[in-house]
Amino acid sequence: MKSWDVIIVGGGIIGLSLSIALHKRGARVLIVERGEPGREASHAAAGMLADCTLETPAALQPLATASARMYPEFVHELQDESGVDVDLRDQGTLLFPPPEHVHKRPGLTTASLLPSPLAELEPALAEPTRPAIYLKERSVDPRALASAALKAAKHRGVDISSGTAVTAVLLSDGGVTGVSTHKSSYLAPVVVNCAGAWAGDLPPHPFPTRPVKGQMLSVVGATHNLLHHVIRSPEVYLVPRSDGRILIGATVEEAGYDKRTDANTIHRMHQAAIRMVPALSAARVLEAWAGLRPGTPDDLPILGTTATPGYFVAAGHFRDGILLAPITAHVMAQLVTGVRPDHDLAPFSFARFANAA
Ligand SMILES: Cc1cc2nc3c(=O)[nH]c(=O)nc-3n(C[C@H](O)[C@H](O)[C@H](O)COP(=O)(O)OP(=O)(O)OC[C@H]3O[C@@H](n4cnc5c(N)ncnc54)[C@H](O)[C@@H]3O)c2cc1C
Repeated sequence: MKSWDVIIVGGGIIGLSLSIALHKRGARVLIVERGEPGREASHAAAGMLADCTLETPAALQPLATASARMYPEFVHELQDESGVDVDLRDQGTLLFPPPEHVHKRPGLTTASLLPSPLAELEPALAEPTRPAIYLKERSVDPRALASAALKAAKHRGVDISSGTAVTAVLLSDGGVTGVSTHKSSYLAPVVVNCAGAWAGDLPPHPFPTRPVKGQMLSVVGATHNLLHHVIRSPEVYLVPRSDGRILIGATVEEAGYDKRTDANTIHRMHQAAIRMVPALSAARVLEAWAGLRPGTPDDLPILGTTATPGYFVAAGHFRDGILLAPITAHVMAQLVTGVRPDHDLAPFSFARFANAA
């Protein structure tokens, strides 16, 4: 019977990126994906690579900053190996921070924190009533990114089993021996749970992940280059793509595994976007969708070992899984192959929940 060095449960951007990082370290890897790889949260994401200190949880900042720095090389490799353009943009972000953040920074004025007047940077914006900050951030098209990662993984020889869920992690003498699905079993001495919002559904460990629904829509404007920057405000964010689409998002809802969109909610977000950029009233709505962010009780990912030898977890990336894919793949590949990770993973350990209990 064929066996692998590592089996990854879940073919989202985290599982796909990790498979490539492990393959580079010489591991024979199998991804077992319940549906189609890259079609869950990673398909729904906006693709902002937001590592700003005003918005990132302090404990996550080192990983967020490191991952943002890794992005150009990460994308370069994936594009090279897959031939897929992932639309990495580096025009930056205009952030309209929530008032409570502005109060923390009394010196914050529109003029002092922008490289040029706002009307020059982004002429389509309505006259702002609040200060804005320019952030040197990038964005990417997560659907293209997942598709590039899938092609690159296959190209390298990572095996992929799609369409059947892992139902059990196989154990012998307390250690991992593989996984089983309703159809078959797959053998490996190492299993990494990268099942996103569903990570906690798989025994033996109840990782406290939960789905946090996000609804979004995309429009295409009458003018091709209507927006240049990502625009983020407490009400709504806008993410331009190079093909002329503009994504508008996103809700943050506790709605279980429900991925339906609600017409009123989509309309409300669309209207909020039009208030920020009036020319969007002439834009055509292309698509509305919802996805399930993998949330955790403290909004931090769960990365590392478990009490079961050979069983690892990399899940719960909540709102930042696209941003955190390169660093997660890097540190988890180190950990799984017995190398001390470059970053301290203690704040992300599954054990923190046991300690809290
Ligand atoms: C609306 C929205 C906007 C977002 N915007 C951004 C953003 O701008 N920037 C950013 O960085 N992040 C963003 N995110 C968050 C980001 O999408 C997620 O953090 C990231 O995609 C998580 O990746 P993942 O691989 O862990 O999960 P997923 O992409 O959900 O992949 C998990 C995979 O595991 C599979 N699976 C589950 N159970 C099993 C099983 N038992 N057996 C086999 N396979 C299984 C699923 O089918 C799925 O394919 C956004 C998310 C949403 C919903």
